[in-house]
Amino acid sequence: MPDINDHFETANRRILTLKAGKERLVANRHPWIFAGAIARESGPEDAAIADLHDPRGRRIASGFYSRHSQIRLRALTFGDEVLTADTIRDRLIASIRRRTRSNDTNAMRVVNAEGDDLSGIVIDRYDDILVIEIANAGIEQLRPLIINVLQNELKPRGIWFKNDIPPRKIEELSMQPEWMGEGEPSTEIRENALRFRVDPPSGQKTGFFLDQRENRQLTRALAQGRRVLNLFSYSGGFGVYASAGGAASVENVDISASAIEMARANHALNGFDASFVVADAFDYVRKTPSRFDLLICDPPAFAKSRGDVDRAARGYKDINLFAMKLLEPGAHMLTFSCSGHMPLDLFQKVIFAAAQDAGRRVSFLRRLTAAPDHPVSLFCPEGEYLKGFLLEVI
Ligand code: SAH
Repeated sequence: MPDINDHFETANRRILTLKAGKERLVANRHPWIFAGAIARESGPEDAAIADLHDPRGRRIASGFYSRHSQIRLRALTFGDEVLTADTIRDRLIASIRRRTRSNDTNAMRVVNAEGDDLSGIVIDRYDDILVIEIANAGIEQLRPLIINVLQNELKPRGIWFKNDIPPRKIEELSMQPEWMGEGEPSTEIRENALRFRVDPPSGQKTGFFLDQRENRQLTRALAQGRRVLNLFSYSGGFGVYASAGGAASVENVDISASAIEMARANHALNGFDASFVVADAFDYVRKTPSRFDLLICDPPAFAKSRGDVDRAARGYKDINLFAMKLLEPGAHMLTFSCSGHMPLDLFQKVIFAAAQDAGRRVSFLRRLTAAPDHPVSLFCPEGEYLKGFLLEVI
């Protein structure tokens, strides 16, 4: 087996030369260097690592290389800093150690790509198993290094390579999942003293929406005695927390029968009763005769690309408008957009338009975001995707 350090040898690196006038891009330390900013390339095409040179031949950044993606380089180091296997090892270790201090949960995002200065790598921990998504061909070649760190630091029972994110197709990487471990790639997690089954092979994203942890806690704090509607429930995260908070009733709605089965199992696991509806939430909010005091609306990303934003805005307005109509005066609503292409100010305008058309007076009590195990790099604000509001609807 080749030594991992070989990938970092000068002769094995791709050299990318920046177009004149593009230096500012790099000065801002944004980790994505696009093909359009590169004048020429040399060195091995299948390199894992590339150095970016300015037009005068000085190295100005180094990182993971891709020969197929428009993101030609995912930069890790800038200026004089030398990129070695240790740089990556140290960053992985630092990310893991920053997270594992919590006693409240044994499930967390241990590596959040750019937010941990490791563009292209996402690693979630679900108790004794780890789930990895790798978005770049260079990183794929460095898998042994990553696995080695994870085994030393976290000693997982197994690692699930989910391999299903769209960038992998562009990178011409395998889309077949892979399990490296013992037993089944499935487990039970404990989060804030509640229990959830997590099954990465059949689940959405890496298996559970870790980013919503703090918003689930907020839901629990608001739930006492209230009738709760959990739209787009997936495996029932918000519903279970609402039950734990003493809700009078909880209704979970999702279009996916298997998501609803998971939600049912998770409520049962915690000894809670609730109702479960397999339905299109857009139909459901128009038809249900029920009224609610607390509503969670956490749809999938309606805007998958920048061109989708208008259509997405209409979707968000529609669901929020009809959801607001179901609320008793004084109700609370947690409403989210997890689409990175939907800017916060536009989402706020959409909520405003929904409130107007619903004829309700609505105030913002709090802005909601992803939990702090999902850090966002200031140099790469694109990493911020989850936004939401806690609303009071009069
Ligand atoms: N709130 C969840 C995550 C939601 S993910 C949590 O905290 O765990 C989005 C969910 O919306 C998915 O489970 C998906 O099956 C569901 N979904 C997608 N389109 C839908 C629709 N039109 N109506 C109802 N559910 C839908």
